[in-house]
Amino acid sequence: MSSSGTSSFDVDLFVIGGGSGGVRAARIAAGYGARVMLAEEYRVGGTCVIRGCVPKKLMVYASRFADDFHDAEGFGWSVGETRFDWATLIRNKDREIDRLEGIYRANLDKAGVEVIDSRAVIEDAHTVHVLKTGARVRARVILVAVGAHPTLEPVIPGGELGITSNEVFHLETQPKRILVVGGGYIAVEFAGVFAGLGSEVTLLHRGDKLLRGFDEDVRDALGEAYLQRGIDLALGTTLTRLEKTPDGIAATLSDGSVRVVDQVLVATGRRPNTTGLGLEKAGITVDEVGAIPVDGYSQTLVPSIYAVGDVTNRANLTPIAIREGHAFADTVFGPKPTIVDHDLIPTAVFSTPEIGVIGCGEAAARAIYGEIDVYKTAFRPMKATLSGGKDRVFMKLIVDRDSDKVVGVHIMGHDAGEMIQLAGIAVTMGATKADFDRTVAVHPTAAEELVTMRTPVVVKKPVAVG
Ligand SMILES: Cc1cc2nc3c(=O)[nH]c(=O)nc-3n(C[C@H](O)[C@H](O)[C@H](O)COP(=O)(O)OP(=O)(O)OC[C@H]3O[C@@H](n4cnc5c(N)ncnc54)[C@H](O)[C@@H]3O)c2cc1C
Repeated sequence: MSSSGTSSFDVDLFVIGGGSGGVRAARIAAGYGARVMLAEEYRVGGTCVIRGCVPKKLMVYASRFADDFHDAEGFGWSVGETRFDWATLIRNKDREIDRLEGIYRANLDKAGVEVIDSRAVIEDAHTVHVLKTGARVRARVILVAVGAHPTLEPVIPGGELGITSNEVFHLETQPKRILVVGGGYIAVEFAGVFAGLGSEVTLLHRGDKLLRGFDEDVRDALGEAYLQRGIDLALGTTLTRLEKTPDGIAATLSDGSVRVVDQVLVATGRRPNTTGLGLEKAGITVDEVGAIPVDGYSQTLVPSIYAVGDVTNRANLTPIAIREGHAFADTVFGPKPTIVDHDLIPTAVFSTPEIGVIGCGEAAARAIYGEIDVYKTAFRPMKATLSGGKDRVFMKLIVDRDSDKVVGVHIMGHDAGEMIQLAGIAVTMGATKADFDRTVAVHPTAAEELVTMRTPVVVKKPVAVG
């Protein structure tokens, strides 16, 4: 923190970026009595609220009704003819996003934060240039919370015909045929959304499985579920060219095949919004992906400048950006220096079927803990007995043999995101397998399997050679 007196500054804190991290930091700092100004160049709420988690989840909900209509018949309901109207979904979704943005603005206002609708850039360690008004604001502390943006990468001929997750929320019509490029959670989620809404979906990924970094069994299970759902998986493949044709966009793949589609959604990665931000003027050098290096307190090498959220590329999730923003405010303006623990992060992928994960996958756990026990189960959920639904539920527990601690929980199936939030409490508290075992099952549920798996799978040890 700067040791200079407060009086020579216009504000105590200038926050650049009104997304998950910036808004939380601004409100908490203001609550501690700091004079706070926040600049937002697009819409308050940031990626999560405006074009990320929230609108995406609304679209995920929309995409799951087709299953519900189908499932209902096995239970005696006659649903009749159903029809999906894209324009209605987009209109209602936009209305909800407007409402949420209003709430974010009102909360900032209530907290006494001055919000400026403008791009802001750094001029030096204590000065921010507000582009819209031309004002130069002197701040005791600057917080960079500018997030990240999607890219159309890798660059290929005709690549500009593709769209990113920014545009997908505003398409005028539902693409009948869509090619989704990428194997991460955003690509997987949108492939699931469009398949559920009845579009023909090709999911193209250069790797041999979806969701790199996740447990291998989960990756396999999702691949199978997507094939089962009629998604055309083009794995181990890249996109080499896009061309406009009278019938749509012709996408040439690395195996020479061509798919003609109405939209190509590129979800191959995101880059921190650091270009042109003036960081170098303050003496901050970004890393090779453009992220700002920070310490555990989110402080950069320049003592008066901090950074939180996606721009630091630590764990790019909303609850993490919020925690980092809150911890920053507690550290700099409040009574308690706080480091955010990035170790155990429960997370969900809103594919259909959904995935929930906390802790290590099997391979990582083996590398970290050595001796582990693995418990697995895959079953047909009860509802499917009458509905005829094809999705299966998959669950896996990974236990450190030494301490008996559950170090990984992996769930694929209906409401896995909800389940993992609760399992996450137990794992965060250090629950052992014995704790899981003595927890009484809730019957009949799918989640009860988490506490009734008794026999570890036998894992073949690699044979020592030589
Ligand atoms: C499609 C999609 C789905 C997602 N789904 C989930 C999910 O289900 N769960 C989850 O946890 N996370 C999800 N995320 C990730 C989540 O949205 C981000 O991790 C989170 O928003 C990061 O918050 P942030 O504060 O770092 O940045 P952001 O929320 O991106 O906010 C940064 C803000 O800064 C503004 N800005 C940038 N530069 C400037 C400047 N120079 N001057 C003024 N303003 C500026 C931007 O306009 C933006 O509003 C999703 C992301 C995407 C794209």
